[in-house]
Amino acid sequence: MSAGPAPRVLAPDAAAIAEAARVLRAGGLVAFPTETVYGLGADALNDRAVARIFEAKGRPRFNPLIVHFPAAEDARHCVVFDARAERLAAAFWPGPLSLVLPRRSGSAVSLLASAGLETLAVRVPRNDVALKLIAALERPVAAPSANRSGEVSATAAAHVAQSLGARVDLILDGGPSPVGLESSIVDLTGERAVLLRPGGVTREAMEAVVGPLALGGAGRPGAPRAPGQLASHYAPRLPVRLNAQSVRPGEALLAFGPDPPVGAVETLNLSPTGDLVEAAANLFAMLRALDRPGRTGIAAMPVPGHGLGLAVNDRLRRAAAPREPLAEDLPSG
Ligand code: AMP
Ligand code: MG
Repeated sequence: MSAGPAPRVLAPDAAAIAEAARVLRAGGLVAFPTETVYGLGADALNDRAVARIFEAKGRPRFNPLIVHFPAAEDARHCVVFDARAERLAAAFWPGPLSLVLPRRSGSAVSLLASAGLETLAVRVPRNDVALKLIAALERPVAAPSANRSGEVSATAAAHVAQSLGARVDLILDGGPSPVGLESSIVDLTGERAVLLRPGGVTREAMEAVVGPLALGGAGRPGAPRAPGQLASHYAPRLPVRLNAQSVRPGEALLAFGPDPPVGAVETLNLSPTGDLVEAAANLFAMLRALDRPGRTGIAAMPVPGHGLGLAVNDRLRRAAAPREPLAEDLPSG
């Protein structure tokens, strides 16, 4: 499926990498080569830029993204490493291994990149262009695979162009991805290390370094997706009331659009202008901010279901639902 106008594609020389860093700094999207697949990158500290990733991919829900760093010491500013993480990073970084670790409190990484969770998936890719780009930005880069949702991961610049078209601002063409398979994902936020997704580093190689890995998510055939299972999706403590047109006593209001009802204990507006990218960028931070004791609940105004509104509504429904992990929460790739 083609997305209309052709995107800008550059050979990844020094000038192109500097230009790509400028695009990222300005909140744009850059597709770049990694050893696994092509990444659709955004400045990981910029909520709006991260929201644009979901928009460009057409993802129907906000699943957490892998955030890319130039080196392990940079990742340590954003997440907490334990001894297992240190050993795995020493053995396999740079390389096709992503580690899910607890976010550092006060980390500047977009909550949207974590899909609202207290955890973050981090990785140091083994690709010169990727490393130079992240170093040039001087910020971490959030990047899922550079293809529309539901399509196979792009392993060449031409695939990216074909799939995303001008939804991506710039593509750095670094040739075909040598591994051609996504990174392995290991969740180290619990007592047991869990292989959430098999990928470019083999289970055996990792077990030689940290001992047995439990299988979760896509690693275990037929199993419910591990993030839903282990980390749970972000759910406010307060009850959430959907499609609110007015405010009931004691409620905080998650508003949308120019004309919210009055009378709430506190009102935060996802987007006064009705911009869905802005709404997505604000969603998790505002839900958290409103979720304070002494209130009867959070009233959420309706958000249109088109574009990013689909994923916004998906999250709001989950926030309003009973606290069980949802069985349909299957891996997206
Ligand atoms: P992709 O977006 O294709 O790169 O895939 C990223 C994968 O990493 C998804 O399957 C996510 O569910 C998983 N992932 C990323 N961050 C986390 C996290 N904090 N907790 C659990 N899984 C994660
Ligand atoms: Mg993919």
